[in-house]
Amino acid sequence: MKKIDNLTYDLLEKQLINIVEKKYNIKQIFEWIHKKNVLNFKEMTNISLEKRKELESIYEFTKFELIKRFDSKLDETKKYLFMLEDNNIIESVFLKYSYGNTACISSQVGCKMGCKFCASTKNGLIRNLSVGEMLGQIYRIQTDTNEKINNIVIMGTGEPLENYDNVINFIRIVNSEMGQNISLRKITLSTCGVIKGIYKLAKEGLPITLAISLHAAEQEKREKIIPSAKKFKLPELIKACDYYVEETNRRMTFEYIMIENFNDTLQDAYALSKLLKNKLCNINLIPYNFVKENDMKPSQNYNINRFKKILLKNGLNATVRRELGSDINAACGQLRNDFL
Ligand code: SAH
Repeated sequence: MKKIDNLTYDLLEKQLINIVEKKYNIKQIFEWIHKKNVLNFKEMTNISLEKRKELESIYEFTKFELIKRFDSKLDETKKYLFMLEDNNIIESVFLKYSYGNTACISSQVGCKMGCKFCASTKNGLIRNLSVGEMLGQIYRIQTDTNEKINNIVIMGTGEPLENYDNVINFIRIVNSEMGQNISLRKITLSTCGVIKGIYKLAKEGLPITLAISLHAAEQEKREKIIPSAKKFKLPELIKACDYYVEETNRRMTFEYIMIENFNDTLQDAYALSKLLKNKLCNINLIPYNFVKENDMKPSQNYNINRFKKILLKNGLNATVRRELGSDINAACGQLRNDFL
């Protein structure tokens, strides 16, 4: 059986045009699924019973089950565990910021990129998530919290540009006025630097915010913690980012994990300032979050502030990311698929 919630409006139209009585029924069905978030055809009462039965014989909904929620005691962050049809489990996070409710969603079960500091890659890649499984994270969190999600960050487990087509269709659906109508400006995709994907995204006509996990301003240093940096070399990566900004006119984000005795010296700050000088970007400094397999430590506050000051002096925008949900392992780099 085919999964109806995997389909963008255009795909739905192509498939249903010969099934439904009137063309506007397609819009109604799309709205039932993506605006009202119903999970069966029975509730689609503006579609004739006969047609609902026909649809039921061809299509089903993605199986997606909320199995556990962890509530942070430090802040209002909630971490969700969802079980997929094949019993794989994924994690998503709900965060409350002054500028709105944010969902941090996963794009893959596991990850193959092997970044040394990150928990999500410790068991390798299991598979890509479908469109319906990415949407499910948003819809279930909204239902559970009874709050509207205004911002989406594709920064959970997985490398989104390695699951390109599904991620793009997911974005089209959540952005649709017939669905959640979440503005493209409020969607951020974070990548460790898949260059081909960045060029493709630049031409997609979806000007979302692109975030690059940079973490080092020198090629050799970057390779030490991000194995894929050997393939995605810094000069080419920066060129791809420049192209993205040119095409979309969007300010980019560069993420920089601050690891003690590794990338937090004055020299590192000068190298980063030089690399990003005069670029339309924000730099997000992320104190390293504890991951049990690693022996890394977060930089001292003094060093983080000194680092930030150098960036600011060089005319760059830099902020230190406030870590939410660290008591429930919901902070950046702490999501994985082997909890329980
Ligand atoms: N694969 C994508 C998205 C997932 S990672 C990417 O690489 O960008 C989301 C963010 O969390 C990235 O900036 C990542 O580098 C960061 N991160 C991973 N492990 C971390 C850790 N232990 N502490 C702090 N940030 C971490």
